[in-house]
Amino acid sequence: MNYPDRFDVIVIGGGHAGTEAALASARMGCQTLLLTHNIETLGQMSCNPAIGGIGKSHLVKEIDALGGAMALATDQGGIQFRVLNARKGPAVRATRAQADRVRYKAAIRGMLENQINLTVFQQAAGDLIVDGDTVRGVVTETGIRFHSETVVLCTGTFLGGVIHIGLDQSRGGRAGDPPSNALAQRLRALPFNVARLKTGTPPRLDAKSIDFSVLEEQPGDTPTPVMSYLGSRGMHPRQVSCHIAHTNERTHEIIFANLDRSPMYSGVIDTIGPRYCPSIEDKVHRFADKSSHQIFIEPEGLDTHELYPNGISTSLPFDVQLEVVRSIKGLENAHITRPGYAIEYDFFDPRDLRHSLETKFIHNLFFAGQINGTTGYEEAGAQGLLAGLNAARRVQGQESWSPRRDEAYLGVLVDDLITLGTQEPYRMFTSRAEYRLLLREDNADLRLTEIGRELGLVDDDRWAAFDSKREAIERESARLKASWVQPGTPAAAFVADKTGKTLSREYSLMDLLRRPELGYDDVANLVGDAVEDAAVAEQVQIQAKYQGYIDRQQDEIDKLKRHEATPLPESLDYDRVEGLSHEIRQKLKAARPETLAQAGRISGVTPAAVSILLIHLKKRR
Ligand code: FAD
Repeated sequence: MNYPDRFDVIVIGGGHAGTEAALASARMGCQTLLLTHNIETLGQMSCNPAIGGIGKSHLVKEIDALGGAMALATDQGGIQFRVLNARKGPAVRATRAQADRVRYKAAIRGMLENQINLTVFQQAAGDLIVDGDTVRGVVTETGIRFHSETVVLCTGTFLGGVIHIGLDQSRGGRAGDPPSNALAQRLRALPFNVARLKTGTPPRLDAKSIDFSVLEEQPGDTPTPVMSYLGSRGMHPRQVSCHIAHTNERTHEIIFANLDRSPMYSGVIDTIGPRYCPSIEDKVHRFADKSSHQIFIEPEGLDTHELYPNGISTSLPFDVQLEVVRSIKGLENAHITRPGYAIEYDFFDPRDLRHSLETKFIHNLFFAGQINGTTGYEEAGAQGLLAGLNAARRVQGQESWSPRRDEAYLGVLVDDLITLGTQEPYRMFTSRAEYRLLLREDNADLRLTEIGRELGLVDDDRWAAFDSKREAIERESARLKASWVQPGTPAAAFVADKTGKTLSREYSLMDLLRRPELGYDDVANLVGDAVEDAAVAEQVQIQAKYQGYIDRQQDEIDKLKRHEATPLPESLDYDRVEGLSHEIRQKLKAARPETLAQAGRISGVTPAAVSILLIHLKKRR
């Protein structure tokens, strides 16, 4: 049989991490195999069909800036787009899209099938070929052997997956899919630190059985936001509304009365679930004083009546799920199309990974996605891209690459994971980034596309579009700096009217744009013509208004960079460092940071402790 059995990179798992990993490695010119359980589920959203949101859209736009698929697939599959925190500062603004599950999947599959250097093969991976401490390939559950120089493992919630509905349990990777037990056992035999986490999903509802007239309608934004830097409104399918419903005291009574039938409260599940996406039983238990919780009733697609009730994820038994749903106004006659469930799965301690996402124990083996203890499509996709590109760089004999914390949320994500590990499913928030004014969703392309081009991830079309946008921003900023408004002119009168202050001397348009009362649209036409491209105008405005703060953050980064490179020797005995508290010593001993800057990012390790370490290092020399 003449089947290509030798590849540069093999990616296991066609979820969000695996698809970005495979696309990245193939874009970089490596012969790549994507091995997945089922081609029909490539890019499948296991839970909520939505992409983006606070902190997460930043990751999606970074993936996009590096040539990845998620944002473009969202533009092709998105049926409701909104910008969250639109009235707040640009650092915390976030685009969120409700996606048509089927269209999103089709968009991802289309990209995979049309990617040169990429082969997709449907089979479960059952074993890794490991030679000493180096991975050499993969064996499928039916015994087909594929050899490769590197392997990227992206198996999501499937390793040792156990599904819970009430006190009933079954084995599965997600509802309707088999778990990966052979591979889970094999990995447990290797020297990785394995633990268990859990997550859950709500029951799905039939829209025909819902009374929308009593629910609050939530339309998308106008004009419709776009997710990808290469995206356009013309790519979007028809747009629809979501709706909002509320739990009530009766709902909460039903849940309280049945807590003993919940696997989490009866002790059947003792693993930890996502703190920021808790089950409804968690919410009513933890916030017992609240008499109501919001539920977003979200369409699953344009060609289906199925709805996703976001906010009532549960593992209660089916009869209780039905009672809970039907206690909610507007859902009294709701038909459940699929029960909600919780799933427990294996994950690996991400502190056993390097910044490249290569494992420390097995060379050329990379881990990405939910198996590293994260939750969310965006977190998975971002890791996948990084692992895929580093697997390719290894094949090409190049050093690994990973963004710093001041360059990308992806840098924050990876650094948090490998330095701190995680005890609960990790999701991204803007609050996790100390330099969030620099890491905005609006400038991910300006931060990363040039690097992506150097890495070989960004194709000619994206590069040309980026280059012309960057030039337009520079040209427009230069024009605003060189265009002046003289006192006593109609333009000065307009400014006085808007700001309540008369101009006593000439001001450049750039100076005027820095005034809080004036926006780009106000000043740009006072002298000459404004640019038409809204993304260019937005960038010019943000850079003008926040320049002072941005410069200050840059100063802090420059100071820290001086320490970034200061290594902490592996032999450093923290017990002998005078002045450190017992708690900080314990944390440093557990994390064993490689540099002083990394030590400073461990939660609880104070700037004072970092200074003590610095002094100690100087004394040792
Ligand atoms: P997955 O998307 O799970 O993809 C794993 C892929 O690997 C699948 O295609 C699978 O078929 C394949 N695979 C597994 N084992 C093998 C093997 N041995 N051989 C070949 N292929 C294999 N995230 C949120 O952001 N919000 C939520 O509310 C949310 N709720 C969730 C509820 C449930 C029930 C589940 C299961 C997940 C939920 N998630 C949620 C998490 C989200 O689905 C994941 O974070 C995300 O899908 C992880 O992406 P991944 O690529 O790591 O894994």
